[in-house]
Amino acid sequence: MNSAQVYLDNNATTRCDPGVIKKMLPFFSENFGNPSNGLHRQGRFAGNAVEEAREQVANLIGATKKEIVFTSGATESNNLAIFGLVHAQKSESRKRIVTSAIEHKSVLNPSKKLLEIGFDVIFLPADQWGRIRLDAAEKAINEETLLVSIQAANNEIGTLQPIQEIANLAHKNGAVFHCDGAQALGKMEVDVHKFGIDLFSMSAHKVYGPKGIGALFINGGPRASPIEPILYGGGQEFGLRSGTLNVPGMVGFGEACRIAQQKLSEEISRVSNLRDHLEKRLLESIPDLKVNGQIDCRLPNTTSLTFPGIDADALILNLDSVMIGTGSACSSGTLEPSHVLEAIGLSREDAYSTVRISLGRFTDFELIGLAEREIVHVANLLR
Ligand code: PMP
Repeated sequence: MNSAQVYLDNNATTRCDPGVIKKMLPFFSENFGNPSNGLHRQGRFAGNAVEEAREQVANLIGATKKEIVFTSGATESNNLAIFGLVHAQKSESRKRIVTSAIEHKSVLNPSKKLLEIGFDVIFLPADQWGRIRLDAAEKAINEETLLVSIQAANNEIGTLQPIQEIANLAHKNGAVFHCDGAQALGKMEVDVHKFGIDLFSMSAHKVYGPKGIGALFINGGPRASPIEPILYGGGQEFGLRSGTLNVPGMVGFGEACRIAQQKLSEEISRVSNLRDHLEKRLLESIPDLKVNGQIDCRLPNTTSLTFPGIDADALILNLDSVMIGTGSACSSGTLEPSHVLEAIGLSREDAYSTVRISLGRFTDFELIGLAEREIVHVANLLR
């Protein structure tokens, strides 16, 4: 791919940071050891690298390294949190799961599975800006609640959720609070302990790390864990996630978190300025363009835009160098409109006219200018 391409789909996935790749490469070749074989040099070296990575992931979210369990990504972390908690449940008294209608499919579908097998699952509504309604949360979370699972930030519209307040409601009722942090990681300040999070899901490929690696934060560490494994085997990752460790992936994820932490505050203002500039220019040029989500409380890199009367797929297909998304990458390609846009009250027609633009570390002012011109040009052609 040439560099003239304007990639604005960073909520779907990000390009690996060159520093991440450099750090990973030796772990495919000279440092190929398996940390489970720590008696020899290769194994020990790999094990030390994994522990360094664990610490780097922990640092980005204000955790300690013993509280981090590596997984294959946020889908697995979400499944481990939800089914792991259900498996560990000793009493039958807590049968309620409280989540929201705008979660990612990797929380929604496990929740639907629990509904099928007899759990009482509540999908909290969001308001028109995509914020979970606290009054609804307060009503739904009771002493029969086992788990409350709410995302930190929405992948489609970027809206941030009142997770601290929801965590408090969960804890007041003796429930565990899980938070899907896949989109929040590296894009906003996260302090899992301050926020009151018990379980926090993360994914490396959203923070300029490799695909197929992620982690679950467990408050107090696996020994104090409220969850049981969903994979059984050699007992790696404190017994919670068996399977030979993906050492290059872990090392890459750790480095990605270190870089993200170093750049975080500077990137939040740089990227949000670029996003706001692009949004303003598009609003000036395209009549009736609408911005979705909570404008003053959303991820710094995300804008969800409805182009009334224009088919979003046609817009994306007709863009030459600019790459943007519709909804989440996982549901793109299906004919169903996004469940998130539906949940915040968009008509089907508007949902089909909505695109997600998500900027990133490699987006600069020049690329934003190119994007603006091309999007305006194609929108005018399609109108
Ligand atoms: N949760 C959210 C909010 C996401 O955006 C994604 C990725 N689209 C996931 C979970 C799944 O992450 P992974 O690709 O690491 O399985």
